[in-house]
Amino acid sequence: MILTVTMNPAIDTSYPIDHLVIDDVNRVVPKKTAGGKGLNVSRVLTQLGNDVLATGLLGGHMGAYMRSLMDADGIAHDFTPIAGETRVCISVLHEGNQTEFLESGPTVMEDELEAFVAKFSELVEQVNCVTVSGSLPAGVPADFYVRLVSIAAEHQVPLLLDTSGSALDAVLGAEVKPTLVKPNLSEINTLLGTAYTPEQVGELADALKADARFAGIEWVVVSMGAAGSFAFHNGKTYRVATPPIEAVNATGSGDSTIAGFAHAIAAGASDVTLLKTGNTCGKLNAMDSRTGHLLIERWDEVYNSVAVIEL
Ligand code: ADP
Repeated sequence: MILTVTMNPAIDTSYPIDHLVIDDVNRVVPKKTAGGKGLNVSRVLTQLGNDVLATGLLGGHMGAYMRSLMDADGIAHDFTPIAGETRVCISVLHEGNQTEFLESGPTVMEDELEAFVAKFSELVEQVNCVTVSGSLPAGVPADFYVRLVSIAAEHQVPLLLDTSGSALDAVLGAEVKPTLVKPNLSEINTLLGTAYTPEQVGELADALKADARFAGIEWVVVSMGAAGSFAFHNGKTYRVATPPIEAVNATGSGDSTIAGFAHAIAAGASDVTLLKTGNTCGKLNAMDSRTGHLLIERWDEVYNSVAVIEL
């Protein structure tokens, strides 16, 4: 079983409308899904045939509603209850645009966080891979993921981390390392204070190799949207590319990539299979209109088109 962690989930609500009218009424038929990056990972892992358990923090009426949405999606879940209301995020899809309203979410209390850590320690014993995705809610210290990384390491369970900013920075500065990190190009540029483009992969790879913060992480993957990705593993550097496509909806492609990596790691796959699986998932998500959903019927075609080159 694979455990996915979402500390700041949301009820994703989309309002598709032809034309957004400002300062007047817009009538909408909403679509609501259990959202948050880890939930996207859970959905894709389910599509790939893995047993998945979703965990994190949920609170209030919105938390209860979120549980019913996960039940309807067939996602097994075991979230720690909190007093604050789980957030709602609204995405207005209008005239080819996506205008988003993202609630900041609840503030987490110290005892709630400790209850989650205790739950996480129990759940880790029952799984063979963990994914940790997204931002931390208010009240949770920036170095919180360091604790999860350490607990997974104690149990020798691989942990894949997909976060950014201060939460990623704290993990990179810690002694115990996650099994895999997958920043995208803009996240890695922010972290390094650089402006590398996909054409400068060689220079970026050199910069990362020279950066002690990445030493000791088994897999370092930098995803670059339509330009594919590159990865370091066991002293090897890989460039992964696939014919680019005009994305139908690339939101969740990074989460789908993480799902592909977790699927491969849990199965003990080879380096090349792992990289091909991750990239196939990212691309198949970009080819589907739904977020965190693969156009699975095109699997063979896309998988066979992914080229992995050792540099
Ligand atoms: P994130 O969602 O974290 O920003 P990316 O946009 O880098 O992640 O996408 C993750 C992966 O999805 C890429 O490495 C690539 O394999 C695939 N992907 C995303 N967009 C496209 C696209 N337009 N064409 C082909 N592959 C894509």
